[in-house]
Amino acid sequence: MRITMLGTGAAFPDPDRAQSGILLTLTNGRHYLFDCGAGVTHNMVRANVNPADVPFVYLTHLHHDHICDFPLFAITGWMWSRQGSPVVVGPKGTRHFCEHLFEGGAFHADFAARSHYPARQKNLEAMRPQVRECSPGLAYEDEYVRITCDWVEHIPREISECFGVRVEAEGKVLAFSGDTAPCDAMVELARGADVLLHECTFPEVFIEHRKKTGVGIFAHTSPTDLGMIAKRADVKSLVATHFGHFESTSPVIKRAATAHFPVELMGPHLMDDVVRDVRKHYSGPLHIAHDLMRIEL
Ligand SMILES: [Zn+2]
Repeated sequence: MRITMLGTGAAFPDPDRAQSGILLTLTNGRHYLFDCGAGVTHNMVRANVNPADVPFVYLTHLHHDHICDFPLFAITGWMWSRQGSPVVVGPKGTRHFCEHLFEGGAFHADFAARSHYPARQKNLEAMRPQVRECSPGLAYEDEYVRITCDWVEHIPREISECFGVRVEAEGKVLAFSGDTAPCDAMVELARGADVLLHECTFPEVFIEHRKKTGVGIFAHTSPTDLGMIAKRADVKSLVATHFGHFESTSPVIKRAATAHFPVELMGPHLMDDVVRDVRKHYSGPLHIAHDLMRIEL
């Protein structure tokens, strides 16, 4: 199987990273998409995958950097002759999200215009996702994969449910954290995994700064804690992802981020600090994700 990192950034429109998105491609060619943040559809095409050929999407949570591209992904699949309805699995609210997009929803004008074409009439089901709202436990299973999920600790659950997942396929296991503070549920989901894909939004210096300024730090995992999680879960390899723009050199992001970050500390050198801090506890194979990075398992 192959894992393609379609988006490795966080909430800002970063010129160097799309928002969250991971594509799992089995040896038989079947694709499973996890998260669909802004830029993911473009990167899917760059990775030589047709969105119409991706029949499954798991949304870890409904924050914009994990779902922004879903309308583009779905409409592209429709235009490019997707057959059947995509399966969309996600937290509470996923049905509401999907049912307010196309027919009668935010993109109704586009839907109405495009569905006049006879060719688009033939695959209207591409715009009618089969939605399954999941709860902790088995989230999805077909003859090729088994996906279990549990709540992770990103935002209080009554505001917004957030899931981490464990995916078993072809005798391998991958785990993906979505967004979370360090939590035992993610350690259990990742137990013994061949690869753990885990968020690592901010380096320690940013977390210190955010603590002092009260911007909020509950929601994410520090590099030091990430190393501890990988060690506790005894994973065979670790991919750090969902980077919060701390290494950006974009002048726009730097100007815009002054309220959020210690902008004077920003830069690519901080990735060395991330690696150093993950390494305090975890000594196995470590990848720092970048867009379009591929991992063969
Ligand atoms: Zn996020």
